[in-house]
Amino acid sequence: MSFQTDPVELEVDAFRGALLAIYADLDAEVARRAPVCQLSGRCCRFKEYDHTLFLSAPELSVLLADAPAPSRPLDQGLTCPWQDAQGRCTAREARPLGCRVYFCDPNYEGQAADLSETFLARLKRLAEDFGLPWDYAPLHHHLRAAWSQRAQPEPGPTESS
Ligand code: SF4
Repeated sequence: MSFQTDPVELEVDAFRGALLAIYADLDAEVARRAPVCQLSGRCCRFKEYDHTLFLSAPELSVLLADAPAPSRPLDQGLTCPWQDAQGRCTAREARPLGCRVYFCDPNYEGQAADLSETFLARLKRLAEDFGLPWDYAPLHHHLRAAWSQRAQPEPGPTESS
């Protein structure tokens, strides 16, 4: 049996655990309000949905560490690189708060903003507790910055490829 003793890794694991707990609470709140998702995938095609996905730097770190290789190359902000050819999210477990809270169900309209405000405040407090930078910015801004430091990852296989 081995025990993890690296303090940096322990800190990362502690942050990830706390972040995933916030995501789980948010998912439960969203489920309680029961917005309808028709799996159109529109919310991940940002231009079509007239929507920009924002996330914080700590959420990006977990997304990049835990998600598989993106399904498609990074474009100019029109779509999410983790949406596969069938319109599904391939980064589901690691997807950020903004992906979890928005639905195109007109009966749910208006609820996303309140939930977002409440849960972003929790996330921000968590980042502060861990001394992490917040840097809340569009997904494509973060990805361009992160992937300019190294080669953009090759898109992973999708079921249709
Ligand atoms: S991470 Fe997943 S849910 Fe979020 S925009 Fe990308 S494909 Fe959609």
